[in-house]
Amino acid sequence: VAALGTPTRSVITTCAYCGVGCSFKAEMNGDTLVRMVPWKNGKANRGHSCVKGRFAYGYAAHKDRILSPMIRDSIDEPWREVAWDEALAFAARRMHAIQERHGRRSVGVITSSRCTNEETYLVQKLTRAVFGNNNTDTCARVCHSPTGYGLGKTFGTSAGTQDFDSVEQTDVVLIIGANPTDGHPVFASRLKKRLRAGARLIVVDPRRTDIVRSAHVEADHHLPLRPGTNVAVVSAMAHVIVTEGLMDEAYIRDRCDWDEFQHYAEFIADPRHAPEAVEALTGVPAADLRAAARLFATGGNGAIYYGLGVTEHSQGSTTVMAIANLAMLTGNIGRPGVGVNPLRGQNNVQGACDMGSFPHELPGYRHVKLPDVRAIFEAAWGVKIDPEPGLRIPNMLDAAVEGTFKGLYCQGEDILQSDPDTHHVAAGLKAMECVIVHDLFLNETANYAHVFLPGSSFLEKDGTFTNAERRINRVRRVMAPRNGYEDWEVTQMLANALLKETGRAGWHYTHPSQIMDEIAATTPSFAGVSYERLEELGSVQWPCNEAAPQGTPLMHVDGFQAGRGHFMITEYVATDERTGPRFPLLLTTGRILSQYNVGAQTRRTENSIWHDQDVLEIHPHDAEVRGVNEGDWVRLASRAGETTLRAVLTDRVSPGVVYTTFHHPMTQANVVTTDFSDWATNCPEYKVTAVQVSPSNGP
Ligand code: SF4
Repeated sequence: VAALGTPTRSVITTCAYCGVGCSFKAEMNGDTLVRMVPWKNGKANRGHSCVKGRFAYGYAAHKDRILSPMIRDSIDEPWREVAWDEALAFAARRMHAIQERHGRRSVGVITSSRCTNEETYLVQKLTRAVFGNNNTDTCARVCHSPTGYGLGKTFGTSAGTQDFDSVEQTDVVLIIGANPTDGHPVFASRLKKRLRAGARLIVVDPRRTDIVRSAHVEADHHLPLRPGTNVAVVSAMAHVIVTEGLMDEAYIRDRCDWDEFQHYAEFIADPRHAPEAVEALTGVPAADLRAAARLFATGGNGAIYYGLGVTEHSQGSTTVMAIANLAMLTGNIGRPGVGVNPLRGQNNVQGACDMGSFPHELPGYRHVKLPDVRAIFEAAWGVKIDPEPGLRIPNMLDAAVEGTFKGLYCQGEDILQSDPDTHHVAAGLKAMECVIVHDLFLNETANYAHVFLPGSSFLEKDGTFTNAERRINRVRRVMAPRNGYEDWEVTQMLANALLKETGRAGWHYTHPSQIMDEIAATTPSFAGVSYERLEELGSVQWPCNEAAPQGTPLMHVDGFQAGRGHFMITEYVATDERTGPRFPLLLTTGRILSQYNVGAQTRRTENSIWHDQDVLEIHPHDAEVRGVNEGDWVRLASRAGETTLRAVLTDRVSPGVVYTTFHHPMTQANVVTTDFSDWATNCPEYKVTAVQVSPSNGP
């Protein structure tokens, strides 16, 4: 810090890593960022931060940043640096030619949950108003799309029901498939504080995560289930609650659809859901399951927090609905201290979903098939909107391999590294005639691109991110964009180049606040949001509108968004991914505190604590029978592919289960994961892969 000089000014902005959404004061000496100081008035973090937000911002100035647009005729040729106009005209000509030859639905867009709300809104607008189709998707596809489906079906809205502050009034915390210490560190600290003050804790996770046992915190129950059996475990808890008469009948009668509940109660009371009946399947002792269910139902205010260990399964959406059933069954929705809360992995997953970057939904979770919804956007945009839902990311790739999908604009997302079944992703990209990558770095996906448009970091732009508690936080420009343009400007320039190809009028936004004004005008839950309101309140939780001008910390207080709460039938169905003699172990994946996703940012930040490789956690018994010792190189193989990494022997994982992270391109963990996915949303089943582990000499 001393070398960078004394700060002369500061700008309040929001961390661009996880869904906690911590506020920071970026302290500047002229145009040099001296340090990031956690902001004490930030409502999500109250002056706290983790190592990533505090220190891992050096990537913005990294030498790997690409600052000039580049094009090439084919992916076998070297890149040519060109002026912005030439790159945009090249991209527009190619995409237009593809649509002329193969139809308007032959191209699409993938955006990232790292982008601001305003950027995401513009990208889906480009898809619908410029390309004329609904082929728009986001990386939420591969993380929280089942949350959208499951909470939408049961509660009527796809979002966490309570604010972070509410945890202070929680008596029983139930964590399912989430590792907050590593994934959501600042919120984990608040959780631990509450646990140290006496709240009880149940953790459902195949792995003994830090929160199961850490300083002065010990879970009352850790249910180390076999990967892929979430529905059986949550249903068994519901079975105990219903058959032992522990449900909150008055709440259910008052708030939920009673006929649906009766149907559900009959279903869940069936002996096949009893803890004793699922013990062998789940690997969780029946007595522990019964005790956990009784504690959750009778321990006072119960709050459920869940993560990708719930959603990234073939039954991800079913598990989300099972969790919602459990909360309604126990009356744990609609007051402080209770609720169902998806812990969002990326900074703006919530916003990406809110802004309509799904192929079936316009902003505000409104189906594109509804004529009155389309009419709102048709009036605002002056175009007709395609009433047919578009392609999801895996469908785009399948269609590309089949030859019907030919062009892609990919913003802020490295699908080659982050999506499952890497070989299939590569085949899809290779088959396309025009791939436009818009990013900070020449990522793995860019190996298959024809156009590269340089992106801007969160320090270089204005906008908003929406965190896991639906809090809309301002992102403020700390320094000028190194590439010359903020990302929303690049999307607008691309849209205008495309519009010029067909002689249509261009867009003329001059500041992201105007995009937010358009969002507010078209989306009822954002109707009261503006940059002026955000300056006045600091941040605001949606819905923010005439009925709730100060925002909405707690959802479903006077009734569910859906009118009444809907109990859904949640039958356990085994995944198609099966262990057998060739692949006898189950692999599951997760994060570590100091790294972030595929590591594009954290690996480009100088700091000695950043882990430099992914490792495979394996139980000592499984290691011994394979002749594997601590630190050995091992070959990790599945039906999809194989990779090599070092072994760590630990009883954090049960026998039969192995675990790794997915942060390093050298490992390419997704070479191993399969293309099985959630039945409702196509969210990949990253968390269950049958594998074999054997000694190796190294990569
Ligand atoms: Fe950033 Fe999340 Fe860490 Fe907060 S907890 S500083 S939002 S990575």
